[in-house]
Amino acid sequence: MAWHVVIAGGGFGGFYAARTLEKVLPPQAARITLVNDVNFMLYTPLLPGAAAGTLEPRHVVVPLREELKRTHLRLGTVLGAAPQDNTLEVRTLKGTVEELSYDHLIVALGSVSRTLPIPGLAEHGIGFKSLPEAIELRNHVLRTLEVAETLEDPAERKMWLTYVFVGAGYAGLEGLAELQDFAAEVIELYPRCRTQGMRWILVEARDRIMPEIPEPLADFATRELRGRGIAIRTGTTLDAVTADEVTLKGGEVIPTKTLVWTAGVKPHPVIARLGLPLDRQGRIEVDATLRVDGHENVWALGDAAAVPDPAKKGKSASPPTAQHALRQGKRAGKNVAASIGSGKVKPFTFKTKGVFVDMGQGQAVATTLGIRWRGVPAWWLARSYHLAALPGTKRKWRLLVDWNIQLIFGRDTSELGGLGRAPGLGADPTAGDTPVAEAAPREPVAPS
Ligand SMILES: Cc1cc2nc3c(=O)[nH]c(=O)nc-3n(C[C@H](O)[C@H](O)[C@H](O)COP(=O)(O)OP(=O)(O)OC[C@H]3O[C@@H](n4cnc5c(N)ncnc54)[C@H](O)[C@@H]3O)c2cc1C
Repeated sequence: MAWHVVIAGGGFGGFYAARTLEKVLPPQAARITLVNDVNFMLYTPLLPGAAAGTLEPRHVVVPLREELKRTHLRLGTVLGAAPQDNTLEVRTLKGTVEELSYDHLIVALGSVSRTLPIPGLAEHGIGFKSLPEAIELRNHVLRTLEVAETLEDPAERKMWLTYVFVGAGYAGLEGLAELQDFAAEVIELYPRCRTQGMRWILVEARDRIMPEIPEPLADFATRELRGRGIAIRTGTTLDAVTADEVTLKGGEVIPTKTLVWTAGVKPHPVIARLGLPLDRQGRIEVDATLRVDGHENVWALGDAAAVPDPAKKGKSASPPTAQHALRQGKRAGKNVAASIGSGKVKPFTFKTKGVFVDMGQGQAVATTLGIRWRGVPAWWLARSYHLAALPGTKRKWRLLVDWNIQLIFGRDTSELGGLGRAPGLGADPTAGDTPVAEAAPREPVAPS
C-alpha cells in the first residue's frame, strides 16, 4: 500500500519538500499531495523588483504544476486539522469543505505581516509581503505622482510625494530602495514633481537597520541610502497613522499619503487551528528533525515553525528566511522518506553562508563565506545568486531578459491597477471605480 504524504503550503518550504520527496521516494512507495491556495510559489526575494517594475510580476513566481512532476496539486485553503484522526480540513476552489486523510503531514504555511495595535495602521498602512501588495504599491506610487503633478499648493504636493516605510529588515529595505530607485527614474516625466523633489523615510525601532547582516555592511547600506537622499530614522517607532499623516514617537508629524508597513512577520493565523503545540510566538514546536512535538507523523518548517537554529546550537529558533525554509523543506522531505523506510531521520543542520541585500541602482551589500561585498560586485553577486536559485530554466531566462531589457530601455510607467478587476458589462464608466490604495483613500484630484 502506498503512503499518502500531504504538504500544507507550497512556498519555499513546501515546494522543496515536495521536490525532495519526488526525488527520494519511488512513485509506488508514496502518493504526494500539495495543498496551496494559489498555483504558484512566490519567489519573495524578487518581489521588490516586481514592485519597482524591473520584473514582470509573472516572472517572480514559480508555477507549481510546471516544476513538480508527480505531486498532486490541490488548490484550496487549509482551514484546520485533526491530528488525532490524521486529517486536514481544506476549502476547495468550488467552496466545499473536505477532509483530506494523510499518513504523514508536512506543515509549511508560512507567515503573515505582524501588525501592532497602532491607531490607523490597519486602515491606512500598505503591506509588502504578497504580489498583489507589491503591485498595488507600485501603482500607488505612480498615482501619487499623477496627483502631485496636478496640485498648485507645494505643501500639499509635498505630502503626496512623501513615502514612509516602517521596518528595516529585508522587505522594508529592499522594497524602499527599489521603489525609490523606480520613482527617481520616472519622476523625470513629471515636471512639477521633479522640481519639488520627493521625501523617502525609513523608520526602524531598533538602533540599526538589517540585523540579519554584519554591522559594517548595514552601515554601508545606511550610507548608500542616505547618499540617495533617503532619511533613515533608527530607534524610532510609529505612534499613529491617518489618511494624511503619520505620527512618530516623540510627536513628530509627517504629512504623507503613503505608509508601508514591513515590521516583521508572525505565523499564519491558521497555524493556531491545526491542533499542534505552539511556542509563545505562535510557531509550531518541532525538534531538530522538524518533527512536531508529540506527533510522530507531523512535521513543520519555515516561518510557521520554531525550528531550533543550528547556528545558535538550537538555543533559539531559526530566522524566518527563504534560505532556511527551503533547506528545512528538503530535510523534511528526506525525513518523511526515512520514516517510510528510505534512509535515516537526521537533524536540520544548515548555517547561513551568505546574505544578499539588493538596493537597486547597481548597489547591494552581501556576505558570502565570510567575505564582505559592497556596491556593484555585491549587486552582481546578488543577481547571479537569484538567477541560479530560481527554480526552472524557463523562469531563469525570463528573469535574465527582464533585467537586461530594463538596463537598456528603463522601466515602464503605465499604471495597470485595473488588471484582473474588469467592470461588469453595462457598468457606468464614470462611476469612478479606479482602485485606490488604502493608504490613499479616494480624493478628488485638484484641478491643474
Ligand atoms: C519582500 C520580501 C523579501 C524577502 N527577501 C528574502 C531574501 O532575500 N532572502 C531570504 O532568505 N528570505 C527573504 N524573505 C523571507 C522569505 O520569503 C520567507 O522566510 C519564506 O518565504 C518562508 O518560507 P515558508 O515556506 O515558510 O512560507 P512561504 O514561502 O510564505 O509559503 C507559504 C505558502 O503557504 C500558502 N498558504 C498560506 N496559507 C494557506 C492556507 N490557509 N491554505 C493553503 N495555502 C496557504 C501560501 O500561499 C504560500 O504558498 C523575504 C520576504 C519578503 C516578504
